[in-house]
Amino acid sequence: LVGEHRSSGSHPPSVVVLAGGTGGAKLARGTLDIAGERLAVIANTADDVDVYGVRVSPDPDLVTYWLADLIDEDRGFGIAGDTDRVMRALRAAGHPAWFELGDRDLATCLLRSELLRAGARPTIAAARVAEAAGVVARVLPMSDEPVATFVRSGGRWLPFQEFMVVERASAPIEGVELRGAEGARPTEQVLAAIGSADAIVIGPSNPVTSIAPILSVDGMRDALARAAAPVVAVSPFVGGRALKGPTEAFCAHAGLEIGVAGIQRAYGELLDGVVADEPLEAASMPGVVADTLMDSPQRRRSLAAATLEFAASL
Ligand code: GDP
Repeated sequence: LVGEHRSSGSHPPSVVVLAGGTGGAKLARGTLDIAGERLAVIANTADDVDVYGVRVSPDPDLVTYWLADLIDEDRGFGIAGDTDRVMRALRAAGHPAWFELGDRDLATCLLRSELLRAGARPTIAAARVAEAAGVVARVLPMSDEPVATFVRSGGRWLPFQEFMVVERASAPIEGVELRGAEGARPTEQVLAAIGSADAIVIGPSNPVTSIAPILSVDGMRDALARAAAPVVAVSPFVGGRALKGPTEAFCAHAGLEIGVAGIQRAYGELLDGVVADEPLEAASMPGVVADTLMDSPQRRRSLAAATLEFAASL
C-alpha cells in the first residue's frame, strides 16, 4: 500500500500534483503525508498580480501555506492569525487597498519581489518562499515566463484578480483568455519532476482558471503525455457541486458538465483515470469512487492515498 511506505521500508512514490490554490493545494497537503520530499507541486501562475509594489503569486503561495500548515483554513487564503496593519495603513492613507494581503503574507511577497528584481527566475523565488515556510516538497511555478488569465465580463477584458476581487466573480463570464501561453515554456524543474514521477495527479482545482493555464504552457501537455507515470485527475465536484468559488460558472462558460464527465472532457486524452465521488459513465476510462471531501487532515491524506493507489494500479 502506498500509504505504508514507512513500515514497509520502500521508497515513497515520486508524485507530481497540478494545482491552483484551493482544491489542488489541499490534495497536495494530503499527498505530502505520503510522498514527503518526493512531492512536487506544479502551481498555476496565471493569477499573479502586481500590487503595492510587490508581485503576488496567489496559487504557489497558497500551496506553500497549505504544505506548511500555515493556511487560514476559514478564509481559504492567507496565513492563519495574520494581522492587517499594512492594509489598514494604506486605506487610512487613501490608497485603494482592493487586494487583501495580511502582514505576513505581504512579507512573503516582499521576499519574492526582491529576488525577482535582482534577476532571479520565479522558480528560484518560489523555492525561497517555500524554504522560508519550512516546506520540504517542491513548489514549482508552471513556467518562468508570464501567462495571465483575462476574463471578459460586461464587454470588458479584466485581469483575473480584478474579476475575482473587484467584480466578486459575480458578473457573467463572456470569455477567458490565457495571454502569453504560446510564449511560455515549462521550466527544467517542471520537466524533471514530470519525467521522474511515479504518479501525476491533476488536483481538484478549477479546470478553466487553475488547471487550463498550466496545460496551456507550450510543451506542458506533451511532457505529461510522454511521461511514464499515469495521469489521474481528482474531481473538484463534491456531491455534484463545486465547493466554492466560480468553478461552476467557468465550467458552464467552457461547455464542461458540472461533474466527472466535465473533468474527463476538460483533460481528454491526457487522462489515464479519474477519481470522483460519483461513478463514471461505463467503460469510458478507469475510475475510482472515493470520498473526495477534504475537510480534515485525515480526509486529505486518505484521498491522496486512494488516488496514489489507484494510479499505481493503472
Ligand atoms: P483557486 O486557485 O483558489 O481558485 O482554487 P482551485 O482552482 O485550486 O480550487 C477550486 C476548486 O476546489 C473548487 O472547484 C472546489 O470545488 C474545489 N475544492 C475545494 N475544496 C475541495 C475538497 O475538499 N475536495 C474536492 N474534491 N474539491 C475541493
